[in-house]
Parts: sequence; structure tokens; C-alpha cells
Amino acid sequence: MREILHVQGGQCGNQIGSKFWEVICDEHGVDPTGSYTGDESSSSDLQLERINVYYNEASGGRYVPRAVLMDLEPGTMDSIRSGPYGQIFRPDNFVFGQSGAGNNWAKGHYTEGAELIDSVLDVVRKEAENCDCLQGFQVCHSLGGGTGSGMGTLLISKIREEYPDRMMMTFSVFPSPKVSDTVVEPYNATLSVHQLVENADECMVLDNEALYDICFRTLKLTTPSFGDLNHLISATMSGVTCCLRFPGQLNSDLRKLSVNLIPFPRLHFFMVGFAPLTSRGSQHYISLTVPELTQQMWDAKNMMCAADPRHGRYLTASAMFRGKMSTKEVDEQMINVQNKNSSYFVEWIPNNVKSSVCDIPPKGLKMSSTFVGNSTSIQEMFRRVSEQFTAMFRRKAFLHWYTGEGMDEMEFTEAESNMNDLVAEYQQYQDATVEEEGEYEGEEGVEENYES
Ligand code: GDP
Repeated sequence: MREILHVQGGQCGNQIGSKFWEVICDEHGVDPTGSYTGDESSSSDLQLERINVYYNEASGGRYVPRAVLMDLEPGTMDSIRSGPYGQIFRPDNFVFGQSGAGNNWAKGHYTEGAELIDSVLDVVRKEAENCDCLQGFQVCHSLGGGTGSGMGTLLISKIREEYPDRMMMTFSVFPSPKVSDTVVEPYNATLSVHQLVENADECMVLDNEALYDICFRTLKLTTPSFGDLNHLISATMSGVTCCLRFPGQLNSDLRKLSVNLIPFPRLHFFMVGFAPLTSRGSQHYISLTVPELTQQMWDAKNMMCAADPRHGRYLTASAMFRGKMSTKEVDEQMINVQNKNSSYFVEWIPNNVKSSVCDIPPKGLKMSSTFVGNSTSIQEMFRRVSEQFTAMFRRKAFLHWYTGEGMDEMEFTEAESNMNDLVAEYQQYQDATVEEEGEYEGEEGVEENYES
């Protein structure tokens, strides 16, 4: 057993996290009371074989999510508790305060959140102790607010301190002015990225800018709600975790996923794509072939991050197909994409695209595919946030809200340059070619001389 411990924090984190649990409960045949009810359409062996990755088995054979829910105000968690799957969570694992974070990263990270963090860590520790062999953690949060962002990254650093050899994966929602109107979000996001670069192993980037565009342009929803955005997110999260939850070879645990995808430790921010894109309630009408799924999955329009892969190059990528289909056809289609677009893949990492097929499709679809790519073009999103950050920081606008909580201006400067460095590193590897290996050959030459 290789368990994953899930934590969701703040309004967004709790909303997307609870949707994730609804979706995977449905896929594993677990009903809102935690009972296994199975499913005629898929084999119970497949549903249960790896259920322990995400669920604890309680007395009476009930399945309980290994999930910790945290917030600095009770509202979102109250509505989860009274929602359709509210009773499935362990009641002791709801940890919340009353103060709120007021969209202030400093409150989440240094003041209000810091006061609550030990109660969260107590619950995390208890869950970790119950594991047979914990592989790592996944955290759901937004980066634009105060709790998921500030307290979320505080928790991540505390977990790193206490469990340095476990993996840390995040589902991080990046802010966009198209969806939110809180002006300080670029500050909160930049301060968070500064933390995620150092303390997370793999970050699945969910960019509200892209999610909004998908809803508006592709799904023709004129006023997308968080519910619409979260529908895309939960489908993506289900796809990304499919390899971890069902039997299979490729990327079957968090470490294997990162070994395949991360050539340089800081570059662990992934673009995620999904096909077919559906709006809430409409998925039953869409049925695609393997070539169509493949084509869409690589398309910029299907990426949950507002960056165009054609403006950069792929360091690595992984594709998970789901449903009944021919593995041979999948392999052919994937090779085809790479051959036709070879200039978009760095040539100095041979075989940098992997694919796998999982028999169990998501609910309501015959087939789907999820794409996880490490693309240098993701720098476009970081540049966007960085520009918004710098515009305000240049004039020190709104800084008093943060210094008032005891923060030093220096942390802003450091966060800003860490993110700019990240952008520069992506650019450096985007420009790198095989020819530059001259340097490497030279080194080898020296070694040869030395030996002789
Ligand atoms: P927190 O409770 O202090 O962590 O603050 P929020 O989670 O509300 O953070 C605000 C940011 O999250 C803004 O960028 C919002 O656009 C975004 N956000 C809030 N709720 C949701 C949600 O349910 N879905 C998505 N996709 N984004 C959300």
C-alpha cells in the first residue's frame, strides 16, 4: 500500500477538493455514506484494487477519504458538510478558524494561519501514522487568496520539514482578473510561487484565466461560474490521478511521475490538458476517436493554463488515455504527433513523451485523455503574474496590509526575483540545443587526457 494524504485549504481549495472526492467516489463505486456499491459497467477488482491509495477502510467496510480540510473561516466547510458527500469525511478532519484571511497572504502564512497550523498538523500526523507506507501528499488550494495561498504554503513547508522524504504534489489555482476582482492576487500568487518552487515536488497548474477562456470560447458559457470552472478542474484532477488510483505501469506513484517529468528540480510546474472538454451535464453527448482525443489533448485550447505550447518547447510530457481502446492506436497517434511537431520537443531528452491506457473511463464518457506536460511555454503565465506584481510593487501599493502583519518588504523582492529566475530558466532550456553539448564533450576530453 502506498497511501496519499490529501489536504484542501481555503475557499477554492475546499471547493475543488470536495468536487475531486465526488468524482473519484463515483469512479470507485463508493457512495456518499462511504459504502462500496460497485458498478455494473466496470469491474469491482479494478475499482478496489488500489482504493487504499486515497481511502482508509473504517470498521464496517466503510471507505473514508484520507482527507484533511482546513480553512480560516467556517463557511465553505459548512456547505461541504451539508452537501451531497458531506458525511463521507472524517468529522475530526475539519479544522477551521473564525478570523478569515481577508485575501491577505501574510495573514494565512504568518498570523491567523500560523495560529491554526498546529491543529492541522496534528490531524495530518494522525493520518500519516495510520498509513502503511505513505508515498506523499497532495494539496488543493488557490494562490490568489489568503488561506489556501498563505496557509497552504505554510503547511507545505511544515510538512516538508517533518516528512522530507515524502512527495508533495499540489493542485494550484492561479488567479486571473477575468475571474476575480481582488487587486492583490498577484502579490499572493507570487509569494506562493516563491514557496512552491522550493517546497513542492510537482505542481499541477490550474489557471483561472485558461479555465475562463475554455468556458467562454469553447463551451460557449457567457458568464462562467466557479461551478463551471471547477467542473473542468475535477475532470482534470480525476485524469491526472487516474494512474495513481487504478492498476497500471506508467506513473503509478508520485515519485515515478516526477522522475519522468522533471529534468531539473525547480521546473516542476505542469501544464495539464484534457479532452474531450465538456460543460456540466453535457458530457453524455460527446464521443471521440483516439486520433481526435490525441489531437485535442495537445491543443493549446485544451490546456488549463493560459500559455501556448507552440511558443515554447516540451521538456517532457505524459498522456493518460482512459476507456476501452487499442493501445497500439494510442502509441501510433502519439508518435505521429511527435514526428509532425518535432521542433516543439527538446531533442536533448530522447523519448520524452510517455503514454498509458487505463481501462476505466470517467463517468459519462466512453473515452477521455489527460495530458501533463512540462513545457517551457508556461513561462508566459508566470510573466503575466509577474507583470501584474511589478506594476503594483514598483509603487509599493497595498504593501501596508502585509507589513502590518509583520512581513518584511524584502520577502516581496525575493519572491519577485525567484519567479523571474524561474522564467529565465525556462527560457534557457527552451533555447538549449544539442550542439551546446560541446561543453560536455570538452569535459569528457579532459577526463580522457587525465586518464592517459
Ligand atoms: P482563501 O479562502 O483565502 O484561500 O481564498 P480563495 O480560495 O477564495 O482565493 C481567491 C482566489 O481563488 C481568486 O483567484 C479566485 O478567483 C479563486 N477562487 C475562489 N474560489 C474558486 C473556485 O471555486 N474555483 C476556482 N477555479 N477558483 C476559485
